Amino acid sequence: MLVNWKFQFGHFTLLTSTLLSVSQVRLFYFDNNATTRVAPEVIDAMLPLLAEHWGNPSSAYGFAKEAARRVERAREQVAALINASPAEIVFTSCGTESNNSAIHSALLTQEDRRHILTTAVEHSATLKFGKHLEQRGYRVTFLPVEPDGSLDLHLLEKSIRPDTAMVSVMWANNETGVLFPIEEIAALCRSKDVLFHTDAVQVPGKCKVDVREIGADYLSLSAHKLHAPKGIGLLYVKRRVRYQPYVIGGGQERGRRGGTENTAHIVGFGRAAELAMSSLQDENTRVRAMRDKLERWILRHIPKTSRNGAKEPRLPNTANIAFEGLEAERLLAALDKLGICASSGSACTTGVIEPSHVLTAMGVKPARAKGSLRFSLGIDNTDEELDYLIEHLPVAVQEVRTQDAGHKR
Ligand SMILES: *Cc1c(COP(=O)(O)O)cnc(C)c1O
Repeated sequence: MLVNWKFQFGHFTLLTSTLLSVSQVRLFYFDNNATTRVAPEVIDAMLPLLAEHWGNPSSAYGFAKEAARRVERAREQVAALINASPAEIVFTSCGTESNNSAIHSALLTQEDRRHILTTAVEHSATLKFGKHLEQRGYRVTFLPVEPDGSLDLHLLEKSIRPDTAMVSVMWANNETGVLFPIEEIAALCRSKDVLFHTDAVQVPGKCKVDVREIGADYLSLSAHKLHAPKGIGLLYVKRRVRYQPYVIGGGQERGRRGGTENTAHIVGFGRAAELAMSSLQDENTRVRAMRDKLERWILRHIPKTSRNGAKEPRLPNTANIAFEGLEAERLLAALDKLGICASSGSACTTGVIEPSHVLTAMGVKPARAKGSLRFSLGIDNTDEELDYLIEHLPVAVQEVRTQDAGHKR
């Protein structure tokens, strides 16, 4: 809506936006790790499944066959994105379900093993599920990380126990962009005969994903992080690895996930997978250059700023910056008024702002963590948008710092 509007009215945008409410300000979106815009090609691919081919893929008559055919085509497309075979793909409702399902399956297929090894910086889809399992009598180890967000592999190796059912370690951290050495971890798990799952939700389109190269047993993806809609994900389950379903019902997904297939979303996911393969280049050249420019500019020109997390290896699109002497939520609100979207990893539980669990695990002091912001760029961002951010950010930071200092007095 907004994009068309900007397009149609061209240079009138500035004039009209000042007359309209704040919500009508042009959008400057730097929060692609939270979700991404649904690509027009993806919407085009989805619509026929809603309007024409709305049959149930499990039905036997010819009318429904087209829906089934398109779901299988999408399965091939997402399998190609990660170099899996289509039979290794289980469509789920989201990345969260994929993570939950993988861990759940590992415990159910090996009842003598009641320990899960994961990290303290996982997405809540793993972290909270781990805490839930602990309450139900399972043992869960949440490995600490180094100050730069990296993992100590010796510690990981030492933490694998005879009763470890699964090692679940994310590939790319959604808050800092820090990448873990997934291939090495997978090899380690193989040598110890332990199942390995990786939450790779932040990776496709940004780095190459090849499940054969990695050697993971399970891998989770979510469509809305790669320009497809929310509410659709997948779990890769390596051939010959045992699997117990998490959502139990009909025989869909070859008995691995009950529930009538979300046909339109699955087809959109398939199209997005194709697009992600072709945008890999742009993400690693143009988007990376924009991210580097933004980060360099902030660290050089805005006083008392620093980067959270290792510079490399890191996703090409993510910058996590600590701004001393301010509260991230207030800076986000100031940026929101300018149409700029970014985020902080802080969680607002029971009305109190808690610093990000990722930064806390990295040993970042609470005051610094609470003043940290994540900018996550994407293929839709332009140089012009980046210039707008660079122009307005220092003023917003200055304003909020002055206010925050005032409050303390
Ligand atoms: C977004 C995200 C998830 C959750 O995916 P949903 O589809 O939103 O449930 C899991 N892990 C990581 C790393 C994410 O960024």
